[in-house]
Amino acid sequence: MDGPILPYGRQTIEDDDIAAVVEALKADFLTTGPRVEAFERAFAETVGARHAVACSNGTAALHLAMLALDVQPGEVVIAPSITFLATANCARYVGADVVFADVDPDSGLMTPQTLADAIERVGERRLRAVLPVHLRGDARDLPALAALARGAGAVLVEDAPHALGTTAKFGNVTQTIGDVRHSAMATFSFHPVKTIATGEGGMVTTNDDRLEGRLRSLRSHGMVRPPDADPWWYEMPEPGFNYRLPDILCALGQSQLAKLPRFAARRRTLASAYEAALAPLAPVVRIAARPAWSDPVLHLMCVLIDFPAVGRTRRQVVDDLRARGVGTQVHYIPVHRQPYYRGLYGDLSLPGAEAWYARCLSLPLYPGMADGDVEEVADALRDVLGA
Ligand SMILES: *Cc1c(COP(=O)(O)O)cnc(C)c1O
Repeated sequence: MDGPILPYGRQTIEDDDIAAVVEALKADFLTTGPRVEAFERAFAETVGARHAVACSNGTAALHLAMLALDVQPGEVVIAPSITFLATANCARYVGADVVFADVDPDSGLMTPQTLADAIERVGERRLRAVLPVHLRGDARDLPALAALARGAGAVLVEDAPHALGTTAKFGNVTQTIGDVRHSAMATFSFHPVKTIATGEGGMVTTNDDRLEGRLRSLRSHGMVRPPDADPWWYEMPEPGFNYRLPDILCALGQSQLAKLPRFAARRRTLASAYEAALAPLAPVVRIAARPAWSDPVLHLMCVLIDFPAVGRTRRQVVDDLRARGVGTQVHYIPVHRQPYYRGLYGDLSLPGAEAWYARCLSLPLYPGMADGDVEEVADALRDVLGA
């Protein structure tokens, strides 16, 4: 392939996005201004939630969710092992323990079975939250996971940065990820590789007024203003953080959000093109398994490669693809294997996560890809694998 390397993901910033930021820079408030609320309202409307609370990034969103639930030291949060570090780390920020759930080896997703197994490992401790991750963008089995969590006295907090725009049909009901129909909260990230970008940025959605109030005060130092207080007065019932998202970035977020339908359509078109282009490479290369109820806006194009069958290591394949202009990434190294978590919890056996990790590779997927790029990636992959 000629020209620069195709990355596995990339933002799409256009002139009107830049104009929106410039306008915000010329306005009165660089931090807490009218664009924060405007972005929050637009986001809540887009995903169908009652409230959306903007914050500094997706990790802060997860931390705020744990704080809003008042998760305490010694309590337990369940996270899948195949996710980004932050999904597990947010429990540690509040002193809670993480029980890692295994995943289905072909979709990378926590399932009702792997969640039930993780709930057994909670033992006598108090389980507070289960964090389903809509890995790649495919919706989890939310009604079943919510029922299991509820049965164990816990709630769902969806870690949803991969699934902005994804819809799912359970029974006769079609829901949008983020409408938190089955969960207490959902968190999002606007990191440049995610579906919309603000650089750093995050959001928490909830339908619960009390949680919304807590998210808002904890985002800004734990400060609350009683309704009839003097203009300078604030109170701090508990310490919070400075996790605000500036007006400047909210301007960018709102401009980007307006493009979600176009970005989503483009991601869906590219995903279909990949399905067609990669079909001849089966069974050596398979696209990650898709749950039947999910209509995803894929964030990641994860394929599963049988490296032993072609006699090549993943490292060789990654290097050779890069030499042909194709960037890739691995989503993810199982979090339970990280030195920190091994130190805390020892060596766990999560065979589904290991089987996913051994085969997964994320190929380029972002709206700015040219029409011919998918075909070129598939050709490069065929050559490199000798398939
Ligand atoms: C990106 C991501 C995060 C963290 O978001 P940041 O904005 O980078 O802090 C957390 N969880 C998942 C699943 C993510 O993809």
